Amino acid sequence: MVERFDAVDVIRAKRDGGVLSDEQIDWVVDAYTRGVVADEQMSALAMAIFLNGMQRGEIVRWTNAMINSGERLDFTVLGATADKHSTGGVGDKITLPLVPLVAAFGVRVPQLSGRGLGHTGGTLDKMESIPGWRASLSNDEMMTILREVGGVICAAGAGLAPADKKLYALRDTTATVEAIPLIASSIMSKKIAEGTGALVLDVKTGAGAFMRDEERARELARTMVDLGTDAGLTTVALLTDMSVPLGLTVGNALEVRESVEVLAGGGPSDIIELTVALAREMLAAAGQPDADVEAALADGRAMDVWKRMVAAQGGDPDADLPVAAHTHTVTAEADGVLSDMDAMGIAVAAWRLGAGRARKEDPVDFAAGVELHAKPGDSVRAGDAVMTLHTSDEGKFPRAFEALEGALTWADPGTTVERRPIVIDRIA
Ligand code: URA
Repeated sequence: MVERFDAVDVIRAKRDGGVLSDEQIDWVVDAYTRGVVADEQMSALAMAIFLNGMQRGEIVRWTNAMINSGERLDFTVLGATADKHSTGGVGDKITLPLVPLVAAFGVRVPQLSGRGLGHTGGTLDKMESIPGWRASLSNDEMMTILREVGGVICAAGAGLAPADKKLYALRDTTATVEAIPLIASSIMSKKIAEGTGALVLDVKTGAGAFMRDEERARELARTMVDLGTDAGLTTVALLTDMSVPLGLTVGNALEVRESVEVLAGGGPSDIIELTVALAREMLAAAGQPDADVEAALADGRAMDVWKRMVAAQGGDPDADLPVAAHTHTVTAEADGVLSDMDAMGIAVAAWRLGAGRARKEDPVDFAAGVELHAKPGDSVRAGDAVMTLHTSDEGKFPRAFEALEGALTWADPGTTVERRPIVIDRIA
């Protein structure tokens, strides 16, 4: 086959600050997927994009080229569909209560999820702590569960945006993950190819987010909303705070337990607030702006869908979840008010206790993680429990303690600490 372009010319054009043509973009993404453009050439191009950016037209074309590298699913025969994507955070288990909650209103939720790598956890790892639950489904199985139960959380199949799978792995090892055009096209190519009718994006900012800076997170949100809207998807983004962990648990089985509490009508207020805010957006985008979301949490409808979803994928929703063999409780040294908590320190501690993995082939310890007994704004007395560390391997405690050094900031008793709002902005 005669190739239409030379990879070196495409790299040089972007290196020198030029705008890539539609034909160049279509070719380079396709040729990379076919193995004609080598990894080192795509790495150089990704770095040129990281340094020089892309115009809106280039991002749209790049996203389409990634969609066209694989199959497109279509769930519209089932009626209204909605999905959400979170850019990733610490203790972010929102998908677990959110999917059954939205599905309880008859909107189908095809939630293709990933595993954790580095400090952020992955929804599939959390779900896999439920005995028997299976992440991989065929497209037919996914369709059947969506039709019969309404919501599905599963792994994205290999056929969906294969160009992104290759490129994401490359970016991870070439310091080119944090480029807004590449992040936006990576996320949106998968969501558009998945064939959902509406999409709500939870774009996180703060110490535990991978877009720490609020203005950059806002730019990412805007870029993704534009890409979704251009593709005919009703797309909305919420910019949300990730400076402290969400809820009181970080770690796979611990987070499933907390999600089930929310589905049972309880749970921490920040988890409820964000779940309800995202559910309202998804339902409004799917044509149900007046849905009484809180009622479906309180009266067990969402819990009913959750149990059916888990069972449909081989899991036992009533089974005991893994429990850590070893725990260590950290206590307050003096009376005071917890004034700040570094989400990243807590995330790294949970990861070192075994909740996360360093390489994508590593197993995770489902029982490992951190359970918080206090959040910023809470008063404690000397000796009160502040957090409990869980692990199956006692040898992991010392490195987790190191990660926690400086993660908690204390103020004098009686100090008032203003709590940050969870939802910072809405971008539509
Ligand atoms: N998640 C993705 O799917 N892609 C990115 O580039 C970043 C986060």
